[in-house]
Amino acid sequence: MAGVYRQLISSLKPDAQNTLVIGVIITSQNPRTFDHQDKNRSGQRSVWTFTLRDSVANTINVTVWGSPDYINKLSAAFRIGSVVDVINAKVQERKLGDKNEAFIPSATSLCSLTVNEGVSLIQNHDGSDRNEYENLLSVPTKSVSGVRSLQYIMENMEALIDQYFDIIVVVTFVGESKNIMTREGRSMVTRDFEVTDDSYPGTVALKFWENDWVQRSGDWEPKRTVLFIADIQVAFDRFKKKNTILITRKTLITENPNTPKAEIVRNSIKTESEYMPNDPFIVPRTETIRNIMTIKEITQRLNANIMRDSERVQFVTVLFGQVTEMNLDDVNTPVLVTRCALCKRLVAGPDESCMNLNCACGNGRRPVQNILNFYIKVNLKDETGYLVGCRLSGEVAEKTLGCTPDEFKAMTFEQRSALNWKFKLEQVEAKLQVIGPSASFPRSLYNILFLKRIRDVINSQENFDDDTADVNP
Ligand SMILES: [Zn+2]
Repeated sequence: MAGVYRQLISSLKPDAQNTLVIGVIITSQNPRTFDHQDKNRSGQRSVWTFTLRDSVANTINVTVWGSPDYINKLSAAFRIGSVVDVINAKVQERKLGDKNEAFIPSATSLCSLTVNEGVSLIQNHDGSDRNEYENLLSVPTKSVSGVRSLQYIMENMEALIDQYFDIIVVVTFVGESKNIMTREGRSMVTRDFEVTDDSYPGTVALKFWENDWVQRSGDWEPKRTVLFIADIQVAFDRFKKKNTILITRKTLITENPNTPKAEIVRNSIKTESEYMPNDPFIVPRTETIRNIMTIKEITQRLNANIMRDSERVQFVTVLFGQVTEMNLDDVNTPVLVTRCALCKRLVAGPDESCMNLNCACGNGRRPVQNILNFYIKVNLKDETGYLVGCRLSGEVAEKTLGCTPDEFKAMTFEQRSALNWKFKLEQVEAKLQVIGPSASFPRSLYNILFLKRIRDVINSQENFDDDTADVNP
């Protein structure tokens, strides 16, 4: 390439001109957009930060500046795992005392790269050495000799507050990704997951806020996927109101690291044990639910626990049964509810406030903004019994019925009735989250996480076979 010359991260010097740096993206933060600080310029500016690695020992942080459109396209095109050329970036010496250093990973390079729209370039690296870069994804970003056990960290939280540690853990639970609205009204995607290691008897809940990690963790397999997590922070969690470990923007994660310790941690898991999340209202990823139970077995498991008088039982299961009632065409059974768009609390009417003082819509800082949600009661049966009042709500209901709450609201009685009969008396595969009674809530809850007619399941499998036949002539 004329005018630019290839440089290793380890050889970069401040102010080097016309550089070409090749590497694999090992972590990526969500792009952020703000108004121009310079009052003479109108419009918005966006920034995106990622970390690049070109060898076992060398990493560097890259900050990209540009228009929101440019940044959004770039950050969507280049994800964790992409091998890229960074051309003509500005090479700057890092200021180690700088407060921004707390919000980016501790890269090894003493420099950082700044990419400006129109001046520098990021492109796909098109070379036969792509594999060598991709292989770096499974090499821990630091020596694993400094790894601490979860037991040590969890037992000494108070003393370790605000410090960073490295851990090797196995994933025990992966939640479904969640769309949430922040207090400021920004929409975000998050994913909850849980981990343990060979020292710790319980599991620890963690959460992703960065889009790339939310997406990647969707492919993790509970009890199989091992993570080397560098720089996880002991901190006060303002949502849980307690000290815990948190993934921050400083944290670097290596999936299934190629170190013997990974195998030890993976083997410490009892494969027959079921790991349910600490928080009963976190929903697991439906793809990971494979155990099948009858209604009788579900009931026995609930009753066994009542007799033991232990804490609230919860489990997930696949159920093959029949829909006996869905009430989509019954005018006396409301299937739509109105919720606050921000805090998701039920509200009394379409223009009513949620009255939640912690919510911008409830305390008057923002105008009232409500959304319609499905809230459908479904009765199921199989040859062993009946399950009455299973809840089909939110996005699962939209996916199942194939329409939005607003589209449903606009339907005629005949259309609703047709939709109802699409499911009524049909054989279905249902995936359920079963939550047993507690002292404060004396009834069992059955949340439907997935519902599909058997004939549609079979059809989609046939289509899938056709697709694979097409790609493999
Ligand atoms: Zn609200």
